Amino acid sequence: MDLGKISAWLEGNGHPRFRLQQITRAVYKQGAAAFSEIISLPEQLRTDLGGNFRVLALEPELVLESRGGGAVKASFRLKDKQPVESVLINMFPGKWSVCVSTQAGCPVQCSFCATGRRGLKRNLSPDEIVSQYLFWAGYIRTNRPGEKISGAVYMGMGEPFLNYDSVADSLRTMTDPDLIGLGDRHISVSTIGHVPGIRRFARDFPQVNLAVSLHSVDDALRSRLVPFNDKYPLSQIAKALKDYIFTTKRKVFIEYVMLDGVNSSPTAARRLSEWLKEVEAPKYFTVNLIPYNSTGQEFKAPPRERIEGFCDLLTSLNISATIRKSLGSDIAGACGQLAGSRKAAPEGRAGRGS
Ligand code: SAH
Ligand code: SF4
Repeated sequence: MDLGKISAWLEGNGHPRFRLQQITRAVYKQGAAAFSEIISLPEQLRTDLGGNFRVLALEPELVLESRGGGAVKASFRLKDKQPVESVLINMFPGKWSVCVSTQAGCPVQCSFCATGRRGLKRNLSPDEIVSQYLFWAGYIRTNRPGEKISGAVYMGMGEPFLNYDSVADSLRTMTDPDLIGLGDRHISVSTIGHVPGIRRFARDFPQVNLAVSLHSVDDALRSRLVPFNDKYPLSQIAKALKDYIFTTKRKVFIEYVMLDGVNSSPTAARRLSEWLKEVEAPKYFTVNLIPYNSTGQEFKAPPRERIEGFCDLLTSLNISATIRKSLGSDIAGACGQLAGSRKAAPEGRAGRGS
């Protein structure tokens, strides 16, 4: 919902200012999915708004629920028919987190990620990012009454800091108490290591969590996995993180995809801990180990014991580490699997949205 355009239209058509507040309250607070549902508005206004604007800036096509019910993936079409996906993740009983996409495709093209495979199609607008959240808010109300969305992660398709202005605008809507009103600390933005983006983010959103996808602290290996590393090598990321922590005094989440025989040896764990300690004191980091989710490339996830061994070694070196639960791999909705393809995974339960 483009509030700027709606506000101009209301004014141009002689409607009082409070109509905008009625609309924002109904959509952001009460979950109206269409103008026709906002019964506090005069009927003619509802019809006119419906004829000129959309509440959701994207069209849901398919909703798939994972087997254990821990994740639900929605495939959308944007106005220009570009496919984009978003995932609803069950964090704790009754509490959900929304994983949003920021780009259709991704130009970074990391070798293990399905999103980057077809390159960048286009950036999403703030409205398209926020609409993913609004869609899930409606889904929860219909399918899981009484439960709630308690956070959002910018970890879907795309590199958020390559679409900084739209991401920033969407974050303001997500955190504005009069609009969606999530707490800053309940939102995380994940970057592949876009150095200017990390610097801007420290100034603009010091209370929103930052996650950095590191995957290796060896420049040669990292450049093979993440082509972006040639532009922003590890030394620059280290400096940006040091400054980020100095400015915000916040902890940084380090994401590390575990690839068997590539970056998951005990030596790699020791080097990672040394690299982090050179940046800042260990208390400023939590490493999230993400077992590789299959995307059809030559990689595989290490055996569980090796991932646990890596995690334990980091912990013994004083670096807090956790292994991310893989939710939604049966519906191709786990980290790195979002590709915007319309292929439904065999075991997922298909259905329409709210
Ligand atoms: N572009 C941003 C945010 C989206 S990706 C980034 O890269 O940080 C979100 C997370 O999924 C990243 O940590 C990414 O490395 C991880 N990821 C990508 N492909 C994956 C795969 N095949 N298996 C597991 N995690 C993957
Ligand atoms: Fe883009 Fe992130 Fe996937 Fe890399 S891991 S291709 S940066 S979405």
